[in-house]
Amino acid sequence: MSAFGGRAEVAAPPRRCGRILRYFRIFRWDKMDVIKIELIALDENGATLLRHRVSTPIGDYVGTLSAIADLVLSAERELCQKGTLGIASPGAVSTRTGLLKNSNSTVLNGRPLVRDLSQRLGRPIRLENDANCFALSEAVDGAAAAAHVVFGVILGTGVGGGIVIGKELIAGHNSIAGEWGHNPLPWATESERPGAPCYCGKSGCVETFLSGAGLARDYHSRTARHLTAKEIALAAAGGDRCAQECLTVYQDRLARSLAVVINLLDPDVIVLGGGLSNMVQLYAGLAALVGNYTFSDGIDTPIVRAAHGDSSGVRGAAWLWSTASPT
Ligand SMILES: [Zn+2]
Repeated sequence: MSAFGGRAEVAAPPRRCGRILRYFRIFRWDKMDVIKIELIALDENGATLLRHRVSTPIGDYVGTLSAIADLVLSAERELCQKGTLGIASPGAVSTRTGLLKNSNSTVLNGRPLVRDLSQRLGRPIRLENDANCFALSEAVDGAAAAAHVVFGVILGTGVGGGIVIGKELIAGHNSIAGEWGHNPLPWATESERPGAPCYCGKSGCVETFLSGAGLARDYHSRTARHLTAKEIALAAAGGDRCAQECLTVYQDRLARSLAVVINLLDPDVIVLGGGLSNMVQLYAGLAALVGNYTFSDGIDTPIVRAAHGDSSGVRGAAWLWSTASPT
């Protein structure tokens, strides 16, 4: 058993790979009405042995289960070993019912996803919110590896967060720790109220402002033009004044939202991930802005980009088995 634990029995000696300790996959909902599923197999040192991605129709729960199971079994045939299985997914498993909740892949909500997959694959499975997995990944061996208290932020299709203390994930009593994306935007102005409707059922959530769709909506409201967040960042870099204004406002909204996190948790570091964290314009002056809103005489909290980029969520899912073995 390695230090990370969790290696299942090996039916035959590996032929072309090192030991596989972890599998996992991540579901994501996107505008194409599909659920994207990614599998990565890591060895005990965190090196990627294999990576596959597939998509399934967004309304097909059974098809999603089958796609995941097929990915796992196919990878195990290819790598000649079984592995532990961790899953990063939007949402969380309800501590009351054992069913998935809060996923923006709404077909998965109210479903016994962990139980169904565990039965299909014949092993215990751990599932955590994708932002939690992201935070864990960065805390274990990423941009926050040297920090004790870590707040990981996802700025992408959705907006989420995760808390890791002493390299242990803090899931929370109700499995919603770190869900800052569904708090109201702090210090909202008249023009920001009531805010756009959110899939969670409320309006004006942080997510509705800081997600990619939120930034695109802001740009559209100023220009009547439809650009993606990535296109807006490129336009701003190219001198588009409206795009630059959008990013300035976005940065201030992010600062307000992070200030609330610091007032509550005061982490040693904040790590930004997700597609919008790649906007270089986000970082200059951000800490000072956050300081304007915190209950402090200033802050020196590092706010940094993720070290593992797009792979952080899936890596964190693999680390869900870092401290215990499947039974
Ligand atoms: Zn919401």
